Amino acid sequence: MPMDGGLLYSLGRVLWVVKKGDRLFGKVLDGYPYFQEVDLSGGSSICTCPKGGDCEHVEAVLEAFRRGFYFECAGIEAPEACAIEMLESVPELGLRTVLLELKAKLESDESGSESARLFLEALELAEKTGDPSVIAKIEALFEEYALTFPDYQLTERLKSRIELTKRRLMKG
Ligand SMILES: [Zn+2]
Repeated sequence: MPMDGGLLYSLGRVLWVVKKGDRLFGKVLDGYPYFQEVDLSGGSSICTCPKGGDCEHVEAVLEAFRRGFYFECAGIEAPEACAIEMLESVPELGLRTVLLELKAKLESDESGSESARLFLEALELAEKTGDPSVIAKIEALFEEYALTFPDYQLTERLKSRIELTKRRLMKG
């Protein structure tokens, strides 16, 4: 069954939406990460999925916008840079986004590098939340990583980094 925009949104696949003037920019995970640009005044859209626009991803971005899940960015910086800045200022939201990306990345990451970067980002944000319960989510994803890259020294190092964050969070 093909997904529609509302479903993608409710499954949490919309990573972020940025509004700049009359335009919306978005990033939606649907197997791959796809990027959208929607002109609110003219109604035209473009998406990096094979359909190229007027697709379920654009619908999902519009659904997020209607529900108020978007950041207003006025500056000249790129939409993704602005989204990341906003997400980092709300660690719970940022962590949710990074974990979604990490989950998707683990399915296709051949070198382990990009996943490792996302683990480090997740740990950083986890410490900012101050909530020890978030570590379990990171550990669950790390188990998958450790199975895929069992002989990497990196895997050992990431494991120690996770332990360190855990101890810091437990101390409060
Ligand atoms: Zn699309």
